[in-house]
Amino acid sequence: MAKFYLTTAIDYVNNLPHLGTAYEKVAADAIARYKRMAGFDTRFLMGNDEHSTNVEKAAREKGMSPQEYCDQMAEAFQAVWKRLDISYDDFIRTTEPRHVKAVQTLFRAIVDAGDVYKGKYEGHYCVGCERFYPEKDLVDGKCPVHKTVPQWVSEENYFFKLSAYGPLLLEHIRKNPEFIIPESRRNEIVNVVEGGLEDISVSRASGTWGIPLPNDPGHTIYVWFDALINYITGVGYPDRNGDYSKYWPADLHVIGKDITRFHCIIWPAMLMSAKLPLPRTVLGHGWVQFQGEKLSKSLGNIVNPLEIADRWGADALRYYLLREVPLSRDGDFTWELFIDRYNADLANDWGNLFTRTVSMIHRYRAGKVTASAPIEGMEGVITSALRDYGAAMERYEIDKGIEAAWSVIRRANRLVEEKAPWNLAKDPARGAELDALLATLVAALQHTALLLHAVMPAKAREVWETLRLAPAIEKVRLPKAGALLPSPAPAEPIGASKPLFPRIER
Ligand SMILES: [Zn+2]
Repeated sequence: MAKFYLTTAIDYVNNLPHLGTAYEKVAADAIARYKRMAGFDTRFLMGNDEHSTNVEKAAREKGMSPQEYCDQMAEAFQAVWKRLDISYDDFIRTTEPRHVKAVQTLFRAIVDAGDVYKGKYEGHYCVGCERFYPEKDLVDGKCPVHKTVPQWVSEENYFFKLSAYGPLLLEHIRKNPEFIIPESRRNEIVNVVEGGLEDISVSRASGTWGIPLPNDPGHTIYVWFDALINYITGVGYPDRNGDYSKYWPADLHVIGKDITRFHCIIWPAMLMSAKLPLPRTVLGHGWVQFQGEKLSKSLGNIVNPLEIADRWGADALRYYLLREVPLSRDGDFTWELFIDRYNADLANDWGNLFTRTVSMIHRYRAGKVTASAPIEGMEGVITSALRDYGAAMERYEIDKGIEAAWSVIRRANRLVEEKAPWNLAKDPARGAELDALLATLVAALQHTALLLHAVMPAKAREVWETLRLAPAIEKVRLPKAGALLPSPAPAEPIGASKPLFPRIER
């Protein structure tokens, strides 16, 4: 069985997840669910980044030890992910012993490769970003992201010979165009590497909240160096047998565009130095903005994803984000647009198809579905949708995958208008026509539930279970090209009709 290993960025725990953090996890979850459905042995890793000065500071402000604080936040984060139906297989925390061991082993390998040396470092350090900024990248002497004045840091540090890896990185990027997507990110990285790379400081002499260097325990490992290594800790490194041999290299790192440089320059250089294979693809996604502005604590426009999930369901939020914000660019969240999408697509299109089909089966056929071939034309619509869906999802174009499912929903709703089942039901001579129509609508719902399962797992399951389809939707695999799922004809009556997505009244 082919494998697929994907990861998201691990999060700093000084704030709870906001809509942007949730977006990345929801998108990765849809990809993981799709891959499982496509028959891959899928492994999906998420986690928390705990060795940050920000985290240490947040803990002290609350009068807690950093570890206590991180334990509490790990629970809080996982509760959010559970509420949003994120199906990760493993949740890594960088304070875990397994990670400390992986980081020290990898660091040792880089030291042994001759790529670490001691030197004096002076520079502008933004604690918010946990990185040094060259003078030229500051805006009016301030961090371009946080708009705060960085600290001037001057200390003895260990350096990683990143500069030595420029030519190798460029060669790798040219030979493997899928290594960095979308193309705009790839061009940005090529420009940076062509401009020349500088060695980077990979230790801090002052900090105590971090992983000690194996060769000099008085220093701690730079938090980014530590964090990136989580992706191999998650598959059991330094043990090279077991999961590592099965899942590494990762097939996909899903990360925000603001941290592409760490993932496409520093991380591959670290792996090259340690003589480990590089991940296949790094996807640097865009940002979810709120009414055109970047989500930020200082702007006071943080949208709490749980608030949306509690009011209208996690699936409605997942749908909105994945339909409205393609991974390749920035997108916007506004309440207006959310309610429009919800009412038009979920309540009217999919929800209505479901409710009217289930009601008609109860009203006209006492809840039983009669086996019948789909009405001419519908089979073709479904097989094209399956094909378009697979192609889109392989390119991580989730919005286009959703669009493929909608081609079936729209056709099925049109069919109801064309065939006017309320008239067919009055004429006993046209009973077979009515049976065929109902069976066609059930087939449409069956396939749209499957196609939308990755995006809206709970609602897809509800459709599936109401129609008494078997086996459980999680166990169903996508049919082979050109084929349909077996047509359902449950012996028992189907479940009751109820609104899938109750309309939102303004
Ligand atoms: Zn900053």
